[in-house]
Amino acid sequence: MSATFVGMPTFPVAAGTALADSQLRRNLAHATSTIRTKRAEVVREVDAWEQLRVAGATLKDRTLRHLDVYLEQLETALTAAGATVHWARDADEANRIVVDIARLHGTDEVVKVKSMTTAEIGLNDALEAAGIHAWETDLAELIVQLGDDLPSHILVPAIHRNRAEIREIFLREMERVGRPAPADLTDAPLELAAAARDHLREKFLRARVAVSGANFAVAETGTLAVVESEGNGRMCLTLPEVLISIVGIEKLLPTWADLDVFLQTLPRSSTGERMNPYTSLWSGVTPGDGPQQVHVVLLDNGRTDVLADTVGRQALRCIRCSACLNICPVYERTGGHSYGSVYPGPIGAILNPMMRGVGQDAQLDALPYASSLCGACFDVCPVRIDIPEVLVHLRTKVVDAHRGRRPTPQDLVMRAASWTLASSARTARSTRLAGLAARVLSRRGLRSAPGGRRVLGALPRPAAGWSGARDVPLPPAESFRSWWSRAGRDAR
Ligand code: SF4
Repeated sequence: MSATFVGMPTFPVAAGTALADSQLRRNLAHATSTIRTKRAEVVREVDAWEQLRVAGATLKDRTLRHLDVYLEQLETALTAAGATVHWARDADEANRIVVDIARLHGTDEVVKVKSMTTAEIGLNDALEAAGIHAWETDLAELIVQLGDDLPSHILVPAIHRNRAEIREIFLREMERVGRPAPADLTDAPLELAAAARDHLREKFLRARVAVSGANFAVAETGTLAVVESEGNGRMCLTLPEVLISIVGIEKLLPTWADLDVFLQTLPRSSTGERMNPYTSLWSGVTPGDGPQQVHVVLLDNGRTDVLADTVGRQALRCIRCSACLNICPVYERTGGHSYGSVYPGPIGAILNPMMRGVGQDAQLDALPYASSLCGACFDVCPVRIDIPEVLVHLRTKVVDAHRGRRPTPQDLVMRAASWTLASSARTARSTRLAGLAARVLSRRGLRSAPGGRRVLGALPRPAAGWSGARDVPLPPAESFRSWWSRAGRDAR
């Protein structure tokens, strides 16, 4: 059994641990800022970028409105092209389908193209439990798998690892599962890539079954598309006899021409490239060329619940580019593991609670709060998902789901604030009291904050936890209310 997100602590706890890891923060800051800069440069080149974003959002929304029609159209086109279509309600059904097909072909191993959907359903563990090894062939996924680690980024799952750590993993683990890494391996990127290539090649040549996801599925032609940078995907999609693709039902596009928009926005938003080095497109079976058995598993696993949420359904537009992760100040500091899911960062903070439901799991309920609502994620999203809007919407749902339960300290504070702010007289009195308390506290000493500002020291309990992570500004000499009434009196 590989490492799993099951039983992860809530975001505030996990983020606290991540923040204390300075090496992790250095790795993340370096990697995200590099990808951010590359993205910004190639996006700047496209005059019609905003029109492409609007087109992408509109296309996806229209597809989602008529998803039932397009799904049936896709099934018909795939079947006509020689593929076998399976429908999976949830992770268990999808895993069972893949295991059964692999068993039918008498294999004890499959090679895999990088796929968030297969990670979402825990396919590797399901295959392992059935005695079938699943070999990840994407370089970053290979690092995560060999290191018995968890992915922390949609696009770069090993973003939390640096080169020295990767070298150690290769030297320690490769020989356990196949061709060993060269004994004199250094941490030079070319050498690490060469070691991975040699390690994987025998697996590509041997495997009879491959498993992939799909970035897009075109209903009109029954075409699946996978974009990637390394060519490992192309090897999996063409060499084995059997190909099984697990496709989330939100991956649909109505027509071939619709790919035009997304093949421009996806590479620029994800890897900061003008086009993906490898774009593989296939429609069913071509006799004598490539896999001779093609299975497509159309997966729900909570997506129809997201579709039923009129505010949240925009999350199904997501093309998993990860631009929102790379721009997010929270993600950059806490890393992907803090989100406790294969979908981390801003999109994970909305997708996980919607796909799995709010009000039942403290870990999921904490995610909509893992954001400062700065809005940078919306600005970079190539399909204009208003993540802050959905976060606020989900916070409401979390609060509603907890009504009637034993109140938390935060609930009590919010109730007190609500009672105070509901009355002008109470608000005025509390402002005066807060000013008085701040003046008393300021006599206990001030401290310097960034920019040379003088701020209050730590607040006493129970507010100490809050002020431990924030600067508490000095109160002004006179409150706005007091100034307003004085100014009014002076004017008369
Ligand atoms: S939400 Fe938008 S920016 Fe984030 S991964 Fe999805 S498409 Fe990319």
